Amino acid sequence: MTETMYDKMFKPEGEKPPEYVDRSTLEAFAKCPQQGYLIKQHEKELVCNEVLPVVGSFVHQLAKEAIEFADKNIQEASDYFAEELSKARPDIQPEVIRAGRHLANQLLRFQTNAVLICEEQITRSILPATPTKGELLITTKPDLALATNKADTIIVLDWKSGWKERTNADALDEFQTCVICWALKAKYPEINTLHFYYLNTRRGTIAYAKIELNKIVGPHDLTQESAFYSRILEAVKLWQSENKEAWPEPEKCQTCPVLKFCELADPTIPLDFQKSPDKFLDRYIVADEELSRMEKILVDACKTGRTVYNTNKDCWFDDSLKRKQPFRASLKSRKIEKDIDSGE
Ligand code: SF4
Repeated sequence: MTETMYDKMFKPEGEKPPEYVDRSTLEAFAKCPQQGYLIKQHEKELVCNEVLPVVGSFVHQLAKEAIEFADKNIQEASDYFAEELSKARPDIQPEVIRAGRHLANQLLRFQTNAVLICEEQITRSILPATPTKGELLITTKPDLALATNKADTIIVLDWKSGWKERTNADALDEFQTCVICWALKAKYPEINTLHFYYLNTRRGTIAYAKIELNKIVGPHDLTQESAFYSRILEAVKLWQSENKEAWPEPEKCQTCPVLKFCELADPTIPLDFQKSPDKFLDRYIVADEELSRMEKILVDACKTGRTVYNTNKDCWFDDSLKRKQPFRASLKSRKIEKDIDSGE
């Protein structure tokens, strides 16, 4: 991040400007360093035109607008959100309604709690300045933080409008939970307990985790706050060293925005099961996801009535792909058709 006017005016002579890294960058490195590295490399090419992220941004923006409009009164914000949801851009409106339909009701559950912050960027220092580097700060933006009647307890809400349904176990282990709780402690030093809710706004379900920062969670009196700090620091190390290791797992590769650039998606990598079965399986995990994405493109094309042929016109998919049948069984070829005709 660039040097600010404040940095230029007040930082001591010779001191390097602070550096900032946001939660989502670190999260990608924490999930799979190659994913984090490739997102950084291909940032400009990844401008997204897909419907789902646009829908998600709309739901987030509207929720923020509702809380600001209602002057932080949750009940009024809920009414505003419900009222305005159907006024989305007409091309995405049906999907916006599906994605955000439960949020207004879910918010009502917290109507007696006062709003502390809504989509406000918070930062916490993780590494001090050195002679060669500025201080490193982590930045994150909680969707909503609410006060409770206990000074050491707050509520954090994060809305998720996608298809993934988070569970309580996910809520506890999410990297996002870890960064937000750790960063909020810097803003509100008196807090110890955070009730963290992920609102699955599409399905109407809630994933919940109770975080106690002072709780001992590991050996040598390791507290939850220290465990969060270490986890974030390990992700920082991967980010700083531009680590490119690929850590493929089906659930990571399924949502990977840079799969097409992944070294494991390179068809020229030799595949030798006998020599390295582990690498073979790594490659298979990524290839399996690639195949699913190709299948979706073919199915979508066939849904419009198109028949898609291969170059030699001897294999094709047609609108039978619309039906739920095994993908490979849908691939037609002249050889198979001939066999059927001749009754072989
Ligand atoms: S496709 Fe999988 S292994 Fe490759 S970068 Fe993405 S998450 Fe990592």
